[in-house]
This record gives sequence, structure tokens and C-alpha cells, in this order.
Amino acid sequence: MASEQQRLAALRRYHILDTPSESSFDDIAQLAAYVCDTPVAVINFIDDRRQWFKSEVGLGVRETPLDISICAHAIRQEGLFVVQDTREDPRFAGNPLITGEPYLRFYAGALLTTPEGLALGTLCVLDYQPRILSERQQTLLAALARQVMRLLELGRTNRQQAEMLNDLDQTREKLAVLAATDPLTGLANRRAFSALLKQHHQQLTSRSEPASLLMIDIDYFKQLNDDYGHQVGDDALLHFARLARNVFRATDTIGRWGGEEFLVLLPNTDADRALVVAERLRSTLASTPVPTPAPQPTMTVSIGLVELSTTRSLSATLKRLDDTLYQAKQGGRNQTRVAI
Ligand code: GH3
Ligand code: MG
Ligand code: MG
Repeated sequence: MASEQQRLAALRRYHILDTPSESSFDDIAQLAAYVCDTPVAVINFIDDRRQWFKSEVGLGVRETPLDISICAHAIRQEGLFVVQDTREDPRFAGNPLITGEPYLRFYAGALLTTPEGLALGTLCVLDYQPRILSERQQTLLAALARQVMRLLELGRTNRQQAEMLNDLDQTREKLAVLAATDPLTGLANRRAFSALLKQHHQQLTSRSEPASLLMIDIDYFKQLNDDYGHQVGDDALLHFARLARNVFRATDTIGRWGGEEFLVLLPNTDADRALVVAERLRSTLASTPVPTPAPQPTMTVSIGLVELSTTRSLSATLKRLDDTLYQAKQGGRNQTRVAI
């Protein structure tokens, strides 16, 4: 025999208590009253301190205390619970619903039983006079009670499905972010940056605002790796990403283009303004050592800068940018060059 806690836990899992009326449940209560020819029919769940009605015909209340519940007796036994005349039954002799308003005299309740066999409540019919239910009425009342349980199961399945779809959406979003992110620095990876750049360049034709593109390459990075080890090299890349995030605006996009090479797209920014930002990043980096265990190396970057143009293809733009960065390297590194 399952415990009352198990029964209440099962009831909670259906999330039915205190939900609004639903026509599918009301239809079943109406059918029960009609089939059994009674003025009252109730779909009733036994909670820990109350009985709560999902649907009722002819009663006008949604819940009553448990100590005067007839259904609370019904769920403690098997099968249909019938009290032909409540006044003849000593269990209900003192019940105020029977001795006073609404003077209930007849009760028949079919159990609402979960697939594991736990009784959550009843589908019951009541009358103000003693009576008997025919075999046929009893069979139909039990069949309607099973339909109530089908509705509960359906609600639960729908809820589980909605939760699964929600989980799936979240996973999809996470995967999309992962697929677009460089795992070491958390910056946009080459694929994501390329897509964004292409889109921005296409939209450029229909817009008049300028946009600038930076290509940033860490100077002598191979040497840094050789001198301090690969781990410090990784720390240096992270350090660069952190500083860059601080220097650029949220509307700018920083992408890791290759090992120690980065591209930054600055929308609504002409070459003059982009140069100011590029120089700020370059000087900040040159004066901020990589936060690793001592000795902490400092590193510099060389930067190429080009303003996007509607008359120049993206590949030609990138070629120019590459050439400009090369000039910055040739010019002694730790400097920004603007494409002319
Ligand atoms: P230059 O000033 O001409 O740019 O010289 P450089 O040494 O920076 O350029 P080079 O292309 O010769 O070397 C780049 C180095 O970056 C080589 C490679 O091992 C290192 N590197 C690329 N990706 C990573 C990474 O994810 N982690 C670390 N630690 N090193 C990396
Ligand atoms: Mg380099
Ligand atoms: Mg390089």
C-alpha cells in the first residue's frame, strides 16, 4: 500500500490543483450528472488539507475542508464507492453537509487512479435524496473517471513535451554560440567573423555610414612562446582579448582571424576615429604586462587599418589590409598604418 506522501506527490506531478476551469473537464462532469441523473457531479482531488474541485455541476463551490469530505473515504477503498442513503451510514451521520445545507443524501464516487494505482480523487455524483445506481450507470461513471485520468495524462505529456522543446531550444542556442566562438579567447571565430563581415559589406551599399576594419598581429609572438612557454603564450592571447574588449565598443566585433592575428570591425567609424581607437589599444597593450607568474612579458602589436568602401570588393579590402599590416611590420612593428 502506497503512502499518503506518495499519493500527494503523484497529485502534485499533474499540476492540476488550483488551475482554472476547463471545458474538457466540465463536459465530463456534465456527462456524469446526465448519465447518473443526479443534480450534482464533481471532479474532485484530495489534497493534504482540502478537497479541491476541478469541475462541478450543481454545487457552486471549488473546495471544501477534508474533514467533511465523503470522497476522502472513497479514495481509501477500491472500486466504486456508493452510499445509497448517507443518513443510514454511521460514518456520515454527523457530517454537516448531510445534517445541514445542502442535505446530501446520496453519494457515488469512481476513483481517479494513476497508472501506478494511486487514487488522486474521484469523479462523484450526489443527490438530495437516497437512491441507487444501475449497473449501467456505475459502468459509465467508472468509464468517465478513466477519461478524466486521460485528460490529466495528456496535460502532463504536453507539459513534458513543452519542457523538452524548451531544453532543445536552449541547447541549440548554446551550440550556435559555441560554433561561433573561439574556444581560447571567447572572441568571434574566423567563420563567424567572416559571415558578419560579408553581411556588413553587402549592407554597406545601401547605407551611407562609414565602417572601418583593423587587422592586428602580435609582434614576435613566436619568440614569446619560445622564451616563456606555450602556456604563457596562451595567457598572452587571453590578455589581448580582455584588453581589446575594454577598448572597443559593444557594437564593434573582434574576431580571432588566425593564431595571433585578429580582425576588428568598427561600424559607423571612419578611418580617423578608428585610428584613435587602434592607437589606444596598441599603447595600452604595450604598457600592460601579461598577468602570468613572473617574469611577466609585455607584448606589442602591429595594426593595419582600412575604411570599407562600396566600390572595393571584400577580398580586395582584405588584401589591402594585409599589405598595410605588412608595412607596419616592415616599418619596425608596434605601430598602426592606415591604408591609402
Ligand atoms: P611577427 O612579429 O612577424 O608577427 O612574428 P611572430 O613571431 O608573431 O609571427 P609568426 O607567424 O612567426 O609566429 C606566430 C606564432 O604564434 C607561431 C605560433 O606558434 C604561435 N601561436 C599561434 N596560435 C597560438 C596559440 O593558440 N597559442 C600559443 N601559445 N601560440 C600560438
Ligand atoms: Mg605575429
Ligand atoms: Mg601572424
